[in-house]
Amino acid sequence: MTVLIDMDDVLVNTTEVWVQHLNALFGTSVHYEDLTSFDVSLPFRPHTREEVYATQAHAEFWRRATPMPGAVAAVEAIKKAGHRVFVVTNSQYVCLQVKMEELLFRYFPMLTWSDVILTACKQMIKGDVLIDDAPHNLAGGDYEKLLFTAPHNRAFNAASAGFTRVNTWPEALQKLRALTPNA
Ligand SMILES: [Mg+2]
Repeated sequence: MTVLIDMDDVLVNTTEVWVQHLNALFGTSVHYEDLTSFDVSLPFRPHTREEVYATQAHAEFWRRATPMPGAVAAVEAIKKAGHRVFVVTNSQYVCLQVKMEELLFRYFPMLTWSDVILTACKQMIKGDVLIDDAPHNLAGGDYEKLLFTAPHNRAFNAASAGFTRVNTWPEALQKLRALTPNA
């Protein structure tokens, strides 16, 4: 089985650390858990979307991001079960080197650049399952759809969209095993 896994807010806690970085930069006190939109810039208004997203180029917050609980063990388990893993990410090129070297490959040494697919259109990618926190990456894809819970998607009705919601990595592993009973 080919397992496609999103990076930000699924493998690593990007947005939580990014919000802390933005708060320090702007003197704001936005709480990550209060985000209700995929667009992180909304609670930072009147700062513009461009201003907020330009900070993706700041290397320092990528260095502070860490794996989501259970993510490293989960990727190990998926690979050990004989599945192919691809990290499918819409990462911006301005942060790519620090994000890969000092975050993904630092904490997930079982992954290499050959396991990374960069795209803004995940529906173009072929795989058996995609684990992602963004409903717009799951919708319309030709893969089983696991919605990884994040503050911005809590109100989203996963079942009515044909997605399976998973709240944690142990839950995601359970759902993956259900897709491949012999794994
Ligand atoms: Mg994500």
